[in-house]
Amino acid sequence: MLNIAIFGPPGAGKGTQSRLIIEKYNLAYISTGDLLRGELAAGSELGKQVKAVMDAGNLVSDELIVKILEKKINSFENVNGILFDGFPRNLVQAYILTGLLTKLNTELSCMISLEVPEKELMKRMLKRAEKEGRSDDNPDAIRNRFKQYHEKTQPVEMFYKEMGKCITVNGLGDIDEIYKRIINAIDQCL
Ligand code: ADP
Repeated sequence: MLNIAIFGPPGAGKGTQSRLIIEKYNLAYISTGDLLRGELAAGSELGKQVKAVMDAGNLVSDELIVKILEKKINSFENVNGILFDGFPRNLVQAYILTGLLTKLNTELSCMISLEVPEKELMKRMLKRAEKEGRSDDNPDAIRNRFKQYHEKTQPVEMFYKEMGKCITVNGLGDIDEIYKRIINAIDQCL
């Protein structure tokens, strides 16, 4: 299996690039953010539990994340591999991922880390807010998402770097240019 995690700060373009990557490598896709927003939209019990946490830009509990991940993974049949977007988001989740993949007799092939300066990120997210109206794309929540990212998520990158599994990709430029850089990076770890 080809299992990839796409990593980067909020607004780095993970969702946009994910759509292209899953098509090229024929991968199943798991975005924990999308799964949570799906629960919110469906008005489920889980959705109600996470709404305030997400709106403030805080991380949802690892326990709930594992629940939605397992549900999603169990729905896959005969997949080529999985692309993880927005997960793992802290070190506990990195260990959880290892466990989940071990159960499937596989492991993470590589992590692609998109690097984008913070000024550009803020610009992109405020633009997205106008188009998509995500309730966590407002200045206060965005600031907190950056804070959570620096405190809890960034250590995950070092964890995979030390294992020799993380490749950094410049996330500035047009979508196609960045996509080509990502493909090159993935081909390096194949
Ligand atoms: P972004 O990366 O732009 O902040 P996401 O769609 O990945 O957007 O996540 C949106 C929100 O969903 C996060 O701020 C957090 O509240 C929640 N979330 C998503 N993935 C996770 C995760 N793996 N662990 C905890 N919370 C998560």
